[in-house]
Amino acid sequence: MSDTMIKIENVTLEYTTNEDKEFAALKDVSLEIKKGEFLVILGHNGSGKSTLAKLMNALLLPTEGKVYVNGMDTTDMNKVWDIRQTAGMVFQNPDNQLVATIVEEDVAFGPENQGVEPSEIRRRVDEALEIVEMSQYKKHAPHLLSGGQKQRIAIAGILAMNPDCIVLDEPTAMLDPSGRKEVMNTIEKLNKEQKKTIIHITHYMDEAVGADRIIVMEEGQVVLEGAPKEVFSKVEEIKSLGLDVPQVTELVHEL
Ligand code: ADP
Ligand code: MG
Repeated sequence: MSDTMIKIENVTLEYTTNEDKEFAALKDVSLEIKKGEFLVILGHNGSGKSTLAKLMNALLLPTEGKVYVNGMDTTDMNKVWDIRQTAGMVFQNPDNQLVATIVEEDVAFGPENQGVEPSEIRRRVDEALEIVEMSQYKKHAPHLLSGGQKQRIAIAGILAMNPDCIVLDEPTAMLDPSGRKEVMNTIEKLNKEQKKTIIHITHYMDEAVGADRIIVMEEGQVVLEGAPKEVFSKVEEIKSLGLDVPQVTELVHEL
């Protein structure tokens, strides 16, 4: 068995714009993500992070090149279902991901769609809520919860589908500092304890400290790559990429 979870091979992704022109959001990107890896993707708005994330789940297909998820080619229509179960997606706004009026029903939604047996669904819901530390809110209405709690419910909903890999596209961007911390603790736990491969897109440099590897995107390409210590020590490059230098300088001392 291969130890590669996601393989992106010379991928170019072109969007057709309103003026009927092609715009390359990704240009010849290659990237390999190992099983169990915790990868953080940085880069400012418009650099192609979300586009890259959507390729990992067959929400987008490459214009050129190939994307493999646990060995499955995302352009193989017979594999789309398997691919989406292997790599779960969590988005920025938890309100767009919560579908039910009670927490436990919300978390059950994914496995129900997968055709999982009712008793197994109940087991998975309990386990997922336990992992995100939201068991006591099982019977609550999701819309009454805080942002951090809602995002953890959204994560539980993905966990209940048993993915090997979770792609999180700025899951903390809309949260206050305490919600951000709760969600970061959850993400770290998913990687360290549940052994999930994590791809975490964020603007917050401090959320990248615990990663195995960071990549920085700029204009549709990977322009910096390495362990946190390595990447954060390249202050001049980081500055030119528009990232938060004071924050980085502080973090380098912690590493
Ligand atoms: P990021 O997540 O890093 O902010 P995106 O991947 O969302 O970047 O976008 C990369 C580039 O592609 C941006 O210039 C954006 O305007 C453009 N883009 C994104 N989605 C579309 C779309 N559906 N149609 C046309 N252009 C798009
Ligand atoms: Mg984005």
